[in-house]
Amino acid sequence: MVAKVPPLEEKAIEELRAGFRGDLIRRGDKGYDAARKVYNGMIDKHPALIARCADMADVASAVGFARENGLTLAIRGGGHNGAGLGVCDDGLVIDLAPMNGVWVDPKSRTALVQGGCTLGELDHATHAFGLAVPAGVFAGTGVAGLTLGGGHGYLTRKYGLTIDNLLAADLVLADGSFVTASAEENEDLFWAIRGGGGNFGVVTSFLFRLHPVHTVYSGLTLWPIEKGEEALKWYRDFITNAPEDIFGFFVFMNVPPAPPFPDKIHNKTMCGVVWCYTGPADQGERALKPAAEFGPPAFTFLAPMPYPTLQSLFDPLLPPGLQWYWKGDFVRELSDEAIALHAKYGSRLPSALSTMHMYPVDGAVHRVGRRDTAFSYRDVTWSTVYGGIDPDPANNDAIISWAKEYWEALHPYSAGGAYVNFMMEEGQERVEATYRDNYRRLAQIKAKYDPTNLFRVNQNIKPTAK
Ligand SMILES: Cc1cc2nc3c(=O)[nH]c(=O)nc-3n(C[C@H](O)[C@H](O)[C@H](O)COP(=O)(O)OP(=O)(O)OC[C@H]3O[C@@H](n4cnc5c(N)ncnc54)[C@H](O)[C@@H]3O)c2cc1C
Repeated sequence: MVAKVPPLEEKAIEELRAGFRGDLIRRGDKGYDAARKVYNGMIDKHPALIARCADMADVASAVGFARENGLTLAIRGGGHNGAGLGVCDDGLVIDLAPMNGVWVDPKSRTALVQGGCTLGELDHATHAFGLAVPAGVFAGTGVAGLTLGGGHGYLTRKYGLTIDNLLAADLVLADGSFVTASAEENEDLFWAIRGGGGNFGVVTSFLFRLHPVHTVYSGLTLWPIEKGEEALKWYRDFITNAPEDIFGFFVFMNVPPAPPFPDKIHNKTMCGVVWCYTGPADQGERALKPAAEFGPPAFTFLAPMPYPTLQSLFDPLLPPGLQWYWKGDFVRELSDEAIALHAKYGSRLPSALSTMHMYPVDGAVHRVGRRDTAFSYRDVTWSTVYGGIDPDPANNDAIISWAKEYWEALHPYSAGGAYVNFMMEEGQERVEATYRDNYRRLAQIKAKYDPTNLFRVNQNIKPTAK
């Protein structure tokens, strides 16, 4: 049964509006439908109020409003969460999109990044200085949600997870107060937000360490699907022994019917690797030569390119509003048996856009201890995701069953838990499996900073004092 929610009092909203710099959008207002939509078209939630915050003061007012009116509260960074955890039914959404400023300090090699930035906005600002924050592989993704879950992408093997490059964060807590979390201040909170998601407060800005990354040698190599098993074995052996300048994630995909792909491979199911080489550009070709030598590729596109170009390469293929259902797992070792199963499910993609990605999380990630941050799986090699994707809701059963069946077949070969940012709403057991023995400490820190669980539209950590 759906709980009855009392309508918000007009007077209360007017009071909030009086001191609010951003926009307050209610049901029936112009733009409400566009504002409530998130990236995943499968999510169809109707909040009572959307607070588009212009600054930290707006965020504090909105948090106070939700608390005092007993409203469910969702926080929206980039709105890219697969489970749609950036929006809620009937409650209040704090939308940080207008807070998308980035301040780069090239001298200290740091960037101060507001909580509503996307990776594309961040890359745009840092690239001008030949610098980058290690983050994901897709420009539209929100910095906030990605970072708070851990954050892995093209620079992970060399420079670690996004949280490994986080120096400090400013937050608005459940009681409306502002705090900074860093190695020097509120260290327990700093530990918890490095992997523990949006459970502890609204992050209004992040301070990141930057690395010298400008032009990378990158692109992709594709092989016919019949080579799936052999290619994945080759990839396993190659990447786990490759220098950290080489990053490559393995994919099963259907070739898009568009340039740069030649007509003869359009719409064909293939396997391949998306590469990013961060060493000297003139050595990239040699570094990635083994891929071409392993077996004649059906297609290769490799070239030096600005880092933001690589980051936004796949955005046009996956516009907002598609139906998404995904499941993932962390993987320590890839046995031949598991590879055979990957080849089986990877060759049966249920739609043109469905895909499997296997992202390396070794190298620099392993140089941080599993209890040094909330992110627990420091000892695995890959983070996998089985993504059922299609524009047409009529195909939801097909994409959902494929993702679930793929996951069920491969889960026994996994390390046990999944990357928190590759989960749908999968139940408390799965959340605890993500954090393993870090969960208890997270629950204690949650009890200290958010004892009433105001921030619960997330992969939720239940406050427990003991
Ligand atoms: C196409 C695509 C590509 C992706 N690629 C990668 C990748 O390469 N690497 C990777 O690590 N992940 C990747 N992801 C997963 C991504 O990290 C998650 O979807 C993440 O939740 C997105 O963050 P967001 O801010 O866009 O999400 P939102 O939907 O806005 O929020 C997600 C969660 O984060 C919390 N949150 C958001 N902003 C704040 C804030 N300012 N303060 C506190 N809590 C907040 C919310 O409470 C919510 O629970 C990808 C996702 C997609 C759809």
